[in-house]
Order: sequence, then C-alpha cells, then structure tokens
Amino acid sequence: MTSSGPVLRITYLYPDLMNLYADRGNITCLERRCAWRGITPLVQRLEWNDRLDESADMYVIGGGQDRQQQLASQGLTMRNADRILSDLGDGAVMLAVCGGYQLMAHRYRAGDGSELAGLGVFDAETVHPGPDVPRCIGNIVCDWDGARLVGFENHGGRTYLGSGASPLASVVRGYGNNAEDGTEGAVAGNAIGTYLHGSVLPKNPHLADHIIGAALARIAPGHELEPLDDRAEWAAHRAALRVVGLR
Ligand code: GLN
Repeated sequence: MTSSGPVLRITYLYPDLMNLYADRGNITCLERRCAWRGITPLVQRLEWNDRLDESADMYVIGGGQDRQQQLASQGLTMRNADRILSDLGDGAVMLAVCGGYQLMAHRYRAGDGSELAGLGVFDAETVHPGPDVPRCIGNIVCDWDGARLVGFENHGGRTYLGSGASPLASVVRGYGNNAEDGTEGAVAGNAIGTYLHGSVLPKNPHLADHIIGAALARIAPGHELEPLDDRAEWAAHRAALRVVGLR
C-alpha cells in the first residue's frame, strides 16, 4: 500500500548504545503517530561505526551509561557532526534524552573525571560529581508550555545551561537539569533535550505531536495534524501524576 502523505525521515542515533528505560519507545510512538495519520515514517538506525550519508528531518537519541556515552561521543563528533549540525541548522527536529541530551551540549565530564565532547547543539555542559554523590533518581513532573510532562529520571550528571540556552520546562517534582535551579531540559531551535525517560513520548502525547508538528511544518507546510484517540495515553499520563501525588 502506498500513501500519498508526507514522508518523514527519522534518524535514530546509536540505538544499541543509547537506550535506557525504554527510550526506544519514543521511536515506536513517533512511527505510530505518524502512520496513523498517513505520514510515512522512514526510520534509519545509525550504528556506532556508521557515517551518516543522508539527511534527516528528525533525529532521536536516548540515554546511556557513561561507558556507552564515550563511544557515542566519538561517533557523533568524529564521524557525524557535520551532517547532524547542518540538518539542525536547516530546521530539522531533535529529541535527545538524558545521556543523549548531555552529548548534544558542549561536553560531559563523566563520573570518572574523563571529558566527553558533545555537539554543542545546546549551550550547556554537564558535570557528574562522581560515585559518592547521590544520583538524581525518581519520577519527575514538570511544567511545559502551560501543560505538564511526566517521566522518570536517573542521572549522575548535573547539567548547567549557558546564557544561550533556554530550559524546556520547570520542575514540579524531581530533579531536572541539576537539582538546583528548577530547570529541566533545553531547547535550541527545533531541538529538544530532556532528562525524561519513561519512555517520555507515549505518555506525553502533546510533546510527541509538538515534535511531529515541528517536523511537518518544515516538510509539509499547511499539513494539519489530525487529532488521535489519546485516551490510553492520557490515562498513563494521569497515572504518572498520581504516583507523585498530583492530578
Ligand atoms: N550516564 C549519564 C549520567 O549518569 C546519563 C545517564 C542516563 O542516560 N540515564 O548522568
């Protein structure tokens, strides 16, 4: 069966290295929400040794442990920086979660003191204070654009935004970027970085559609996103709010 709707090229960065707490559910969610609306998602998986030879309309990367992040950092900065940065400069969309978010900022100082280079999409840097300092672990809720986002976080790194970065959201419950300033995540153009695992998109369908909408505005201007029956998604969202005593 062929569809005459728009085709959305999604590049999934390092699925084998960067996938914690069901982050791959973000890709499934994006694929399904597109397909249900006659948008054809073309997902390309970038493995560690690969060099990107095609542009994408959307990049997705999940979280990872320090060791896996080291490999991902090399792959990103040594083989794929030009393509990704040039696509983002052209308005491509990105969702980067936790360890992936850290690698999209300037640098990540890992728990053992080693420094991992990032792509500098976000004006931010992350420092892991080492194994003796408690990690930021638990359910997280934040305010985003007049709505709520729910998720789960587990990170040692503390991310500090520079003056060129805007936070994605503000923390209502949990830790967010650094457990100090109440900010969560970052936004730069059409790129979003966040600490929310969960996976985040299935139980935050408004965020999923925000991301798809931003991609569509570029590749198929004027294409309206049809509403979907999101009762199950919102039930999951509300259940996550109830777990932390919110509704
Ligand atoms: N290794 C990073 C940290 O501990 C990221 C962890 C993650 O992606 N959940 O901060």
